[in-house]
Amino acid sequence: MSSIFTKIIKGEIPSQKVLENDMCLAIYDIAPKAPIHILIFPKKEIKNFQELDSVTMQNLLAFIQEVARKMGLDQKGYRLITNNGIDGGQEVPHLHFHLLGGGNSNGKI
Ligand code: AMP
Repeated sequence: MSSIFTKIIKGEIPSQKVLENDMCLAIYDIAPKAPIHILIFPKKEIKNFQELDSVTMQNLLAFIQEVARKMGLDQKGYRLITNNGIDGGQEVPHLHFHLLGGGNSNGKI
């Protein structure tokens, strides 16, 4: 099932890109809940964490760490959150991680 993130990946909807490679994309969240709030997702259409395969997870792992380094968060720290499914509060049905940092990042995501 395509979502708004597929449109962002295809460039059909504008976004503020933080980092991109062949498999993953990081963009600024449109409604930030922390001084730095970035969404990180695979380009492959995967509904949520429960559907995630290990190869994609491996790609995401290195990519997320790279985004954190690029944003200067690797030393100070950050939160990494994924909402899974209806009871998890997931609004966009395309797997994504929220990377929150830069000070007060304790709000509900
Ligand atoms: P979730 O509730 O985990 O599915 O999170 C979805 C997130 O996507 C929310 O934090 C929204 O603010 C964010 N969001 C929705 N549309 C856009 C968009 N066009 N560009 C950037 N972030 C978006």
